[in-house]
Amino acid sequence: MLDLSGPDRSRPLPRGAIGTPRMEPVRHLDPVGPMASLQARRVLQSLMRTGQEARFVGGCVRDAVLGVEASDVDIATPLPPEEVMRRLKADGIRVVPTGIKHGTVTAVLDHDSFEITTLRRDVETFGRHARVEFTDDWVADATRRDFTFNAMSLSPEGDLYDPFNGLEDLEKGRVRFVGEAQARIREDVLRILRFFRFHARFGGPEPEPTAIRACSELAHLLPTLSGERVREELLRLLDADRAVDVWRLMLDYGIVAHLLPQATRVERLAALDRLEWMVGEADPMARLAALLPKGRTTAQEVAERLKLSNAQRDRLLLLADPPVDVHPDLGIKARRHALQKLGTEPYRDLLLLAASDRGTPAAELLEPLAEAASWIIVPFPLKGQDLLDMGVPPGPEVGRILAGVEGWWAAREFQPTREECLAELRRKLAERAAGD
Ligand code: ATP
Ligand code: MG
Repeated sequence: MLDLSGPDRSRPLPRGAIGTPRMEPVRHLDPVGPMASLQARRVLQSLMRTGQEARFVGGCVRDAVLGVEASDVDIATPLPPEEVMRRLKADGIRVVPTGIKHGTVTAVLDHDSFEITTLRRDVETFGRHARVEFTDDWVADATRRDFTFNAMSLSPEGDLYDPFNGLEDLEKGRVRFVGEAQARIREDVLRILRFFRFHARFGGPEPEPTAIRACSELAHLLPTLSGERVREELLRLLDADRAVDVWRLMLDYGIVAHLLPQATRVERLAALDRLEWMVGEADPMARLAALLPKGRTTAQEVAERLKLSNAQRDRLLLLADPPVDVHPDLGIKARRHALQKLGTEPYRDLLLLAASDRGTPAAELLEPLAEAASWIIVPFPLKGQDLLDMGVPPGPEVGRILAGVEGWWAAREFQPTREECLAELRRKLAERAAGD
């Protein structure tokens, strides 16, 4: 546990400590990437036609400051959502009322989409169900946002607005709440997870003390969050480069105990993290599996808590409780059987997880990983129908006999052709007939 008792850390950030919000632009920054696209210009021109302002807001502005490509582009406007819909349609832009009650519509142009949200101010907040009203006040809208560097906005001409000194926080690696951390977390407990996600991405070596203290003190509220919301944030958090350090921090500060008490195996995650470069992209589901004890029960509990989709749940269960044993010391035959049974990706993930358990050096994984990469699953050439065609009556025997032939085929390195498998099937059926 990190020491929180120092004089600085015990002092709560007083309300308004971040100073009076700045209303004027702080510097010039040209919109880049998807913000500078023809499609974005068409949307902005439509919104600004009668003199209203429109700005880029949130993550895309922060990412532009950092010079990284934004994942999605959000635009804010004082126009009410119905008016936004009307204008875009009139200008021939497809628009979907994705969250019109909360002021959000989505403009879709070719392969790009832009979320357009009417400026809002909080009137009352009950957990995540804040009652909001539309406004034309840019600072009020910024005040609702979670962290200082997520509260910046950028005009199409390149005026960068930074009401709460997000630029400096970004530069110093400080994830700082807009306003008082405790109050902002009580409004929406998900912000605890967002804090750790952004700390993983943009934070310096030390977490912002006031923020992390508030997260720790209010972690007991995490169970009130819906599974879906936790899942979204958690998978994005585990996707971050510094997920291991951040998970350690979350364990130390008692977050994991309230969030996902089963997910404690951070040293296994660290070992996986050291091997992941061998397969390229990090996979958040494999990372989650690494944190859990092996076995079906826990994986099922976690899938339930996080309301995983069926596909995600199946993947987690497969990684936690594999139908075939995979580890780096398997002989070539067993490796091929496992590959054939699991498919390349699950095989690869299980191999890395097993290597993480055993501390296998990366060099010893080169050969099995290369083999997995070039492996093409050979489909078993027979179907149940082939047995029915030969007069086997429908029923459980069909599956059993078929499995017998599949075993024979697998033992011959998946080489026998359909004709050869049919011949083996006939042989087996004759043998059974003779035995009866
Ligand atoms: P990313 O690049 O990972 O998408 P982001 O900052 O764009 O990061 P989003 O979840 O897409 O994050 O949210 C967009 C913006 O909406 C944020 O930058 C922030 O200003 C605001 N926001 C989102 N969720 C919250 C929340 N729970 N509380 C307050 N503000 C939020
Ligand atoms: Mg975003």
